[in-house]
Amino acid sequence: MESEGPPPLTSIPALPVRRQSSRGPMPFILLGCGGALVLAVLVGAVVFALISKGRSSVDPIVDTYLSQMNDGDYAGIYAAAHPIFREKTGEAQFVLFAERVLGALGKSQSTSFRGINVNVDNGMTTTTATYKGTFEKGEASLVFTIVDSKLAGVNYDSPLLESMLICPHCGAALQQVSRFCPSCGESLDDGIASTTAGQ
Ligand SMILES: [Zn+2]
Repeated sequence: MESEGPPPLTSIPALPVRRQSSRGPMPFILLGCGGALVLAVLVGAVVFALISKGRSSVDPIVDTYLSQMNDGDYAGIYAAAHPIFREKTGEAQFVLFAERVLGALGKSQSTSFRGINVNVDNGMTTTTATYKGTFEKGEASLVFTIVDSKLAGVNYDSPLLESMLICPHCGAALQQVSRFCPSCGESLDDGIASTTAGQ
């Protein structure tokens, strides 16, 4: 009966005091450091996953686009493009654009990755990826806009394409494929000149 009762009075204060002073703060500090480390690793992993996922989803689209351009399969590119692309650029305009790009640069030979930006907004993932493209006649900087794994825009930047930037009617510099010249209002269907399609 005496062994089930409270321990002798002298041992009661001794145990809690020793626990609190030697072990109390230690787990707290460890947890704090561990928590910060876990958070940093998680943030890093999420950023890395977004970028690598973005790139691994963009690379095949870019490769397909460039090989279709080389083959002259403009209808195939247009059909597979995001609706955003087709809203901004008519198919006839895109074919003219593609023919002029091919004429000015020649066929694509290789690309090297330059950078990527992934933006998630309202459940829509927009990826902007930049490549340096080497073509038969020279180099161009290529910017692809991918929305939900489909081509939504492509921009070429190259001195070889300078003549494409001029409206054939008024000579205004054009930044995008559009149905009418924003400067003189003339139809561009038969003489589009631009380095951007879609978007
Ligand atoms: Zn014009």
